[in-house]
Amino acid sequence: MKNLLIIFLAITMIGCTYKPKSYASLEDYPEYRGTDMELAYSPEKSDFCVWSPAAQAVTLKIYDVANGGEPIEQYKMKPAEYGVWRFSVKKDLLGKFYTFQVAQGDSVYAETPGIWANAVGINGNRAAVIDFAKTNPDGWKNDVRPKMEHFTDAVIYELHYRDFSISETSGEQNKGKFLCLTENGTVSPDGEKTGLAHLKELGITHIQILPSYDYGSIDEAKLDENVYNWGYDPKNYNVPEGSYATDPANPYSRIFEFKKMVQTLHQNGIRVILDVVYNHTFVNENSHLNLLVPKYFYRFNADGTWSNASGCGNETASERAMVRRFIVESAKYWVNEYHIDGFRFDLMGIHDIETMKAVRAALDDIDPTISIHGEGWTAAGSPLPDEQRALKQNAPKFYPTAVFSDDIRDALRGNWTEGNKGGFIVGNGYEESVKFGIVGATAHPQVDMAKICHANSAYAAAPFQTINYVSCHDDPCFTDKMRAILPQTSENELLALDKLAQTIVLTSQGVPFIFAGEEIFRNKKMVHNSYNSPDSINQIDWTYKAKYRDLFDYYRDLIALRKAHPAFRMNTVKDIQDNLKFIDTEANIVAYTLNNHANGDMWKTILVIFNGNRAEVDFTLPAGDWTSVCFGGKIDLQGKDIFKDKIKISATSAVIVWQN
Ligand code: CA
Repeated sequence: MKNLLIIFLAITMIGCTYKPKSYASLEDYPEYRGTDMELAYSPEKSDFCVWSPAAQAVTLKIYDVANGGEPIEQYKMKPAEYGVWRFSVKKDLLGKFYTFQVAQGDSVYAETPGIWANAVGINGNRAAVIDFAKTNPDGWKNDVRPKMEHFTDAVIYELHYRDFSISETSGEQNKGKFLCLTENGTVSPDGEKTGLAHLKELGITHIQILPSYDYGSIDEAKLDENVYNWGYDPKNYNVPEGSYATDPANPYSRIFEFKKMVQTLHQNGIRVILDVVYNHTFVNENSHLNLLVPKYFYRFNADGTWSNASGCGNETASERAMVRRFIVESAKYWVNEYHIDGFRFDLMGIHDIETMKAVRAALDDIDPTISIHGEGWTAAGSPLPDEQRALKQNAPKFYPTAVFSDDIRDALRGNWTEGNKGGFIVGNGYEESVKFGIVGATAHPQVDMAKICHANSAYAAAPFQTINYVSCHDDPCFTDKMRAILPQTSENELLALDKLAQTIVLTSQGVPFIFAGEEIFRNKKMVHNSYNSPDSINQIDWTYKAKYRDLFDYYRDLIALRKAHPAFRMNTVKDIQDNLKFIDTEANIVAYTLNNHANGDMWKTILVIFNGNRAEVDFTLPAGDWTSVCFGGKIDLQGKDIFKDKIKISATSAVIVWQN
């Protein structure tokens, strides 16, 4: 009653009696298609615009500071078309902060910077009025995306700024910051290249950075406490995270430094993929989405409780017009303002298919080589029917967006549903699932879909719809997983397992993906869900590079092999069906040939053999002389060794040979 009175007074104060529209359901809210959301700033005036159709009143509050204190000015915004509210402040607000406050029903909600805010103060509680022209590094207008013809040409490297640079051994100045990826010439205590130079030496084409939008779990005012988080807790979707900036209190710092990072990576031939988490927000009632348009952005169960397909307390409702629009426009914004080259959609299976298609169409209009992939699953059930969501099995319906292959991941290291049983690489079968991974989750006459560990159908309509990997930030990293499966194993055997697993990932059709640091044998001290573990668990120890130089060289050469040989990067199902033939083998061995100078390869026939047995095996080669490229845990692209008839393949290893 008290709230209603306040609202009544507030409405009468602005001199008109606005009667909010009532809607039968959230789906009936009108769609606003304007592009003038949030704030258009000039020194003469600031035009504010927010969408909140069921609000009774929206108040704009202007502040001198990013947190605390009282507003220096307040304005009642005016209702306008399609549920939009506007107000124009005819003075220069540069350097000020602002929020919106919505009154709806019986409630006056907490203040929010709005959901389209492009700049914020420390901790992202208030939006900042800044001059965007001053956020661009020198030469930004000439920044261009490194060339990429096909997504199958990508080698994706997933990293967290802090993992990558926080260790004393990184030799970097800007530890845990966006700028860690702008330093060049950094070295480990042993003189091995680290940071950006390390990425170039390795030869990856894309980095996928863990969430880099403003997230909520780290207090940006207390960075001396050195807290760590993966950042899957979105707060402001269209602003970079403050804790990765050198000065989170300066709204320009995070924006400028993020752009500087992208520019430097581009100058060094590396594309940047943003990990986006539109599927849920850090908090429910008090999220910026909910404070602006109560309930609209979320799904609910039939009993009115918040549905929770994310496992984080809520899930967004991309099927609603303005949620879809927000996701599409946000992705476009990161491309246009920050020159982002691709997106990894967290729990993409929560989003409806139409939204994923709309994102693809919008990015196609900018540059069709901007990549999109995502997790084709959810963390729990959703009220939106399966057939409408961007689940892995529905991938042909949202072609060409790619999905992660948990099939090859679990075929290699062991099915996550079976504890620490282990997979193909430790001699536990899964041959058919490995073959399914090798053909990039496409349909192939020699792959029996009834024997695949997760999938029931060949979900990739083209090989570039599959991301192949054996580990990522989630769950155990590779070495920890192997130690859990084989507690008594030797380090040499672990290294062999690592090489075999990544040889399969990097030679398979589709798009390979590796987790930062695994090329130098990183571990996470057996901590699996390390999302908020200390640096001591998550950091990459760069002294490992000298120690495990042989492993690093193997990864580097494997990437070079893939880049040099298009046979490993075919782009059509037909090409794979015509040119990739599996050979009948004994248990725990998978072998195939790539034939007919596949995809324009200089080699006529390539023979690839994976021995998952933990013992040496004899293998009978097809007729003719075969030149060795990969043998005995070494790769040599210029290899001269010739094999014929029979070869002995050592335990847990790959052989790649060719003939013309
Ligand atoms: Ca933050």
